[in-house]
Amino acid sequence: MHGPDPDVLIIGAGCAGIAAARALRERGQSCVVLEAGGRIGGRADTTRFGAALDLGATWLHQADDNPLTAFVGEHLDHDTVRERHLHLGERFATGAEFADYWRAHGAFEAALEAAPLVPDRSVMEAAPQAGPWDATIAHWLGSQINAAELTGISLEDYVRTDLDGPNLLPREGVGGLVARLAEGLPIRLNHAVTHLDWTGPGVVARGDWGGLRAGRAIVTVSNGVLAAGSIAFTPELPEATRAAIAGLPMGLLTKIAFRARGADRLGIAPFHSARRAVTPGAEPPMSWVFWPFGADHVFGFVGGARAWELSRLGPAATEAAARADLAAMFGARAEAALGECLVTNWGENPLFRGSYTHARPGHHASRAALAAPLGEGRLRFAGEACHARFAGTVAGAWLSGESAA
Ligand SMILES: Cc1cc2nc3c(=O)[nH]c(=O)nc-3n(C[C@H](O)[C@H](O)[C@H](O)COP(=O)(O)OP(=O)(O)OC[C@H]3O[C@@H](n4cnc5c(N)ncnc54)[C@H](O)[C@@H]3O)c2cc1C
Repeated sequence: MHGPDPDVLIIGAGCAGIAAARALRERGQSCVVLEAGGRIGGRADTTRFGAALDLGATWLHQADDNPLTAFVGEHLDHDTVRERHLHLGERFATGAEFADYWRAHGAFEAALEAAPLVPDRSVMEAAPQAGPWDATIAHWLGSQINAAELTGISLEDYVRTDLDGPNLLPREGVGGLVARLAEGLPIRLNHAVTHLDWTGPGVVARGDWGGLRAGRAIVTVSNGVLAAGSIAFTPELPEATRAAIAGLPMGLLTKIAFRARGADRLGIAPFHSARRAVTPGAEPPMSWVFWPFGADHVFGFVGGARAWELSRLGPAATEAAARADLAAMFGARAEAALGECLVTNWGENPLFRGSYTHARPGHHASRAALAAPLGEGRLRFAGEACHARFAGTVAGAWLSGESAA
């Protein structure tokens, strides 16, 4: 260890770590960000797949209140250009059928908002289940949006973190935006922290790169990383913190993308989306967004238990399942039209171990518990898991990083 000790160590250069570092810089405090991976942005990661493609965070949700909206460059509100197509097994829903489905969707959400929150229970216990569209709506709101089945999610946490539009799509990608906001920050890549001593005075972080001392630490790694014990804490974390981590497990949302082989765009206009209704006994459906900004790629998601199962089987199994999902809507035309495939690995990657958190039934208070400062403020956790309103999103990670700083 050498050189002057920084005021604060930040573990992780995702949204929360970047926001914390920017807030400290504004207040004239010194910090060093230690990032295990070889890039900045964490679960906000834009790659090139013909055009820009986000592998993680894709939309700036609830843009009117989203702290990242202030920084966004060229973008559009997806809901103003998106038409949603729902496939019913043999064909796509007519306008009237879709309107009926969408009405049921509104009623489903209204029922959850009106349900008593005490005592806390699973979302599914409060959800309508008898209507013809309810299984499809529950699958969409659970696995495909919250990355976990509604049976395993706290109703109170769900209602408090429920987000509304506008949903902005930045042309540079959310990862591009977040990386831009990290410019000039003191970030050390390939610096995995394996041990954090917060006995005091101050804190000491260690890894195979050596060690670094500071006055305080802000830990922003995912709850999947914390639950796996990838960082050893001395002294051990208090029981309340460990219970909060256990109460906020990671769901999984795997993204899959295909590039068009030729000119066929499957009869779907840019920015439109398509998904299938749930059929009892069949594999749970995925959901797809076509040709964003006129790009030659389509991207989709598989979430929840099915995503974990496919993640363990590997990318080839996920690609095959995705091709089957698209073939169920477009037949052989999909296979002919769609070539190169990309599958994300958030579930198996030891730097993340999932996509984002949900609260288990009965554990809605865990987010505030995890965010509570420890050791007279020497140690704080930040990240999407710690934000009671924008949990699971880049906005929550950003706001929680700022507040920890
Ligand atoms: C497929 C997918 C789709 C999503 N869609 C959206 C969306 O549309 N909109 C939205 O708002 N959000 C979305 N999210 C969620 C959003 O990406 C996350 O909530 C947010 O990026 C989390 O930021 P964070 O700073 O809390 O954590 P992270 O981004 O995970 O940052 C933590 C950092 O810590 C690093 N790290 C891990 N272990 C160590 C260690 N031992 N030492 C040092 N560093 C370490 C990691 O490499 C990582 O860079 C999506 C996520 C996924 C995966």
